[in-house]
Amino acid sequence: MLEVKGIDTYYGNIQALRDVSLRVDDGEIVTLIGANGAGKSTTLMTICGINRPRKGEILWDGMPIHELPPHEIVRLGISQVPEGRLIFPDLSVRENLDLGAFLRNDVQGIKEDMDYVFDLFPILAQRRRQTGGTLSGGEQQMLAISRALMARPKLLLLDEPSLGLAPIIIQQIFQIIQRVNANGTTVFLVEQNANQALRIAHRGYVMENGRIVTSDSAENLLQSEDVRSAYLGM
Ligand code: ATP
Repeated sequence: MLEVKGIDTYYGNIQALRDVSLRVDDGEIVTLIGANGAGKSTTLMTICGINRPRKGEILWDGMPIHELPPHEIVRLGISQVPEGRLIFPDLSVRENLDLGAFLRNDVQGIKEDMDYVFDLFPILAQRRRQTGGTLSGGEQQMLAISRALMARPKLLLLDEPSLGLAPIIIQQIFQIIQRVNANGTTVFLVEQNANQALRIAHRGYVMENGRIVTSDSAENLLQSEDVRSAYLGM
């Protein structure tokens, strides 16, 4: 479905990604784990067209997308939930969700998807008239995920959904990610919380200093001595 082939991405003269290759197949949850500053967010930003690779290519169902503008990439079925949530604090929950559907004009489908996200996150239905800025951190993350789902993506890209949230909320969010995946959305999950991410993922990649250093099934990565000592604190 998504194939990243040998990309290098820079910030000015600083090389953030070195020959990064990975793939995400239809129906999977794939996670990219690694320490702070390893290049995980840059990988995600490069996939969604915000950063441009200087070398390599990104294919979506075999079609090169690494030169397309971000909105075209969204239109193809790739939606991102950025790190730090970045919802619109002065708009209501409902208005934030409407913005997630801004490239669509199928009124009936948009209504169905609004019902779908309210079913996933009933608390958002209760708070639909509240402004985004008055929500708790966990609710804002739920809103950010829901807003991305309002584009009805085939592939959902999540950047550190667990960041700064209490363990119980993290569990809820990860359960919902699994449910969204079971409903047919493919997921690419960038996480520092390797333990939680590997527990819900099918496969994983480990990134260090801008390079992919390991890839395997999530189960094998959870058992790997190297991964356990470097990322799972065991
Ligand atoms: P984090 O979990 O902290 O987000 P990360 O694995 O996602 O870490 P990136 O944010 O992709 O890592 O950063 C990769 C490298 O690129 C780091 O060395 C970082 O300092 C650098 N970098 C990231 N954003 C910029 C930027 N806007 N300008 C310059 N360098 C940047």
